[in-house]
Amino acid sequence: MNLIEHYVNGKKFAGKSKRTGKVFNPATGEQSAEVKLATGTDLDETVKVAKKAFHEWSNKTPLYRARILFKFKELIEKYSDELTKSIVAEHGKVFEDARGSLTRGLEVVEFACGIPQMLKGEYTENVGTNVDSWSLRQPLGVCAGITPFNFPAMVPMWMFPMAIACGNTFILKPSEKDPSCSIRLAELFSEAGLPDGVLNVVNGDKEAVDAIIKNKDISAVSFVGSTPIAKYIYENCAKNEKRVQALGGAKNHCVVMPDCDLDQAVNGLMGAAYGSAGERCMAQSVAVAVGNIGDKLVNSLAKKVENLKVGPGMDKNSEMGPLVTKEHLNKVKGYVDLGVKEGAKLVVDGRKLSLQGYENGFYMGGCLFDQVKKDMRIYKEEIFGPVLSVIRVKNFNEALQLVNDHEYGNGVSIFTRDGDTGRTFSSKAQIGMVGINIPIPVPVAFHSFGGWKRSLFGDQHMHGPEGVRFYTKLKTVTSRWPSGLRSDPEFTMPTMK
Ligand code: NAD
Repeated sequence: MNLIEHYVNGKKFAGKSKRTGKVFNPATGEQSAEVKLATGTDLDETVKVAKKAFHEWSNKTPLYRARILFKFKELIEKYSDELTKSIVAEHGKVFEDARGSLTRGLEVVEFACGIPQMLKGEYTENVGTNVDSWSLRQPLGVCAGITPFNFPAMVPMWMFPMAIACGNTFILKPSEKDPSCSIRLAELFSEAGLPDGVLNVVNGDKEAVDAIIKNKDISAVSFVGSTPIAKYIYENCAKNEKRVQALGGAKNHCVVMPDCDLDQAVNGLMGAAYGSAGERCMAQSVAVAVGNIGDKLVNSLAKKVENLKVGPGMDKNSEMGPLVTKEHLNKVKGYVDLGVKEGAKLVVDGRKLSLQGYENGFYMGGCLFDQVKKDMRIYKEEIFGPVLSVIRVKNFNEALQLVNDHEYGNGVSIFTRDGDTGRTFSSKAQIGMVGINIPIPVPVAFHSFGGWKRSLFGDQHMHGPEGVRFYTKLKTVTSRWPSGLRSDPEFTMPTMK
């Protein structure tokens, strides 16, 4: 059985742990590898390596760091097929979707190549007579990233290229469900010329995460995953005096106005609800049908959901692949059972789907609920599978209220032809990322990604300008070069003249 180890100090690292986890190929249901699950001591050893590497790396010029990032970008492009296949093999999503997610990660590397420009700082001549002042941003030290299973390339790449470009060293703890892509990315970064110890990958579970939280030499933690764990990370990292950004779960609404282009809305919803089998934090899991559009919307959606092509991720004809694990598949099916019990109308039932030749794969078909009510658990909780709930409301204000009352605030979109409706919606929605006639409004690399409410604990979003702020600390210098004059001591608060 293939054993996936850690990657520390520029090479494979076995660590001391005897514990391992199982990695599956979701398309066949077979186990494909064992992954090492680090102990706290393995993690602490890695922190020592990253701390040692920090001194030299943080003293490299931003241009030097950018040149290595440029080479890393080239290598990601060169090995794009191999990296994409490794995502499909362990996550299950379809090949072109996996490639798209890799590209979104690559775009952060491209953005990080511009780090000399982003670290330029600010300068004011003569803040007082013959006194100058400037602000600069310096790296934090050793940073850590803890990432979820659903984007094994993109989410780690929201973090480490930015942290490393800013002069930090980094320890990535990827999801133990699909760890291979992270290891390969770290190897490629080394091949691009990154000094040993600057990027390290430690595989593991709660034990490794708790060691990250406790280790005094880790300055900052970036987390992406479910809300209960995000809250745990946020609270405990703060308790341990670390800077922290912790992105959590979501329940994204798509408001469908009666004046919209229905085909556009339905097609947008199909991709956003069922793409990647609904295992996206920006998946749309609630369609809000406004006014009289409900029947037409549900009928159009139902035909398409029934005809969804479900199959292995490497099959070019598949539109939707399997779910990540058997446990997760059962959890999602359990939510569909619950929805039926709660009284929602199950218009399309994908629970029974079985694929010839892939009977043990973790597949289910798309599910569509109508008449969902806001007190139902299938509306309140994140399902993270191919299940779309339609909820009907009378008017725009009711739709907006519904969106704003939900505990999650990651993404939302509205389909309308009316500019005033779109503009009011984007202004009033209590949500971090808003789309107008765009089903999945994921910000590009040079903007920043993040939700509101219980979808993000912390102050800063990921990548883009917010990424630079998160991975650096601000220093402001005020200076005067007196020309021979000695000044008397001043005992009052200095004010500039
Ligand atoms: P998860 O919370 O189970 O795991 C995320 C990470 O935390 C993993 O590395 C895991 O090993 C670790 N972890 C799990 N349990 C832990 C515990 N008890 N203590 C300490 N660490 C623990 O999430 P997941 O199932 O891998 O990913 C799906 C979730 O991630 C969904 O809720 C999804 O919405 C969310 N997500 C959010 C975003 C976003 O940007 N907001 C992006 C992607 C995924």
